[in-house]
Amino acid sequence: MFRCPNQVVSSVLACVRRISPVYTFRSWLQHLADTRRLATVDKPVDLRFELAAVAKYLDGKQPVLFKRVQGHEVPVVSGIAGSRSLLAEALGCSVAWIVEHFAAACAHPLPSQRVSAEQAPVQERVITSPVDLMKTLPIPVHHEHDAGPYITAGLFIVRNPVTGQQNVAIHRLQVTGPNRLGVLLLPRHTQHLWRQAEAAGRPLECAIVIGVDPATLLASQANVPLGVDELAVAGALRNEPLRVVRGVTVDVDVPADAEIVLEGRILPQVREPEGPFGEFPKYYGPRSEKEVVEVTAITSRTQPFFHTILPAGWEHLLLGAIPREASLLAAVRQTVPTVTAVHLTPGGTCRFHAAIAMRKQHEGQAKNAILAAFANNFDLKHVVVVDDDVDIFQAEEVE
Ligand code: MN
Repeated sequence: MFRCPNQVVSSVLACVRRISPVYTFRSWLQHLADTRRLATVDKPVDLRFELAAVAKYLDGKQPVLFKRVQGHEVPVVSGIAGSRSLLAEALGCSVAWIVEHFAAACAHPLPSQRVSAEQAPVQERVITSPVDLMKTLPIPVHHEHDAGPYITAGLFIVRNPVTGQQNVAIHRLQVTGPNRLGVLLLPRHTQHLWRQAEAAGRPLECAIVIGVDPATLLASQANVPLGVDELAVAGALRNEPLRVVRGVTVDVDVPADAEIVLEGRILPQVREPEGPFGEFPKYYGPRSEKEVVEVTAITSRTQPFFHTILPAGWEHLLLGAIPREASLLAAVRQTVPTVTAVHLTPGGTCRFHAAIAMRKQHEGQAKNAILAAFANNFDLKHVVVVDDDVDIFQAEEVE
């Protein structure tokens, strides 16, 4: 694993009360700052469009820290995982090895370790009633036609009431009231667990975690079966169990070293308008009636950072791409073991087009790799298979 140089660790220890043994959001930030790769904006920025515009300008080039956000004490950070090389560094592997490393972590998850509230920096500060999201947190409006401020980097955690297993995903969250969020639940695991709760007439408790290390952020997007806790994938990626703490008002375990947690519940039989929202393919997702989260508590570090992911930016695209590539690699290898690499290309917004490299040994293997790819991933529309001497990260070489 990659570790901070000793002087970085000691400088972080000097300014932070408690620290995870590996990376936290703020130790990663500190590492970026110490190696002169963190852009800082000292001028006050407006949460409405201006912050997103600067983040867009730096997208894929540099992570950015906005020290002064108008009307707020809490600084905002964007782009902490905005390139494959940053993610590789945070995972302690080479760029070429990220997908293999992620696939291995999905196959061998490492369960989290629960700690007490006293050992959890994310519960240094607790706000219960009244909760006022916009007063407490600097939540940006990213794009011109967005319906309002959106939380884009929140790990949405729910617990399966039957099995006790947790599930983690990122869902777009529109702030619609002081303690109210509209949430887009696509037909995946959160929605499955939510439908069971709603059918029984019950709310579903949830926690929304903002400000985690890049490995945990990436793990939240793991394409693992229902019942596999994505935080355990984070543990495997970090080669060490993630420290978690039980929520203050909900029975949900959250990363103890995170910056901010919103606790709440999805309300049964309630739907309210959510959207439009500028989405990953650089088109707007439409407005419609969506589920509603009522926030019951905000917990945080004493002086937290707020993380926002610029929609359709590199951080957004890569957090989606790498876990999908890992799942794709595992799937096509079951059919053709000599597949050497897969890539979801930027031209397909890192979702729709795949390039696959393989050492072909028999006729028909390329065709089978293509069919296996389509069977694995319902977003895929276009697959190209090439020999393993082609660098599939270079569009010119593939073509
Ligand atoms: Mn899941």
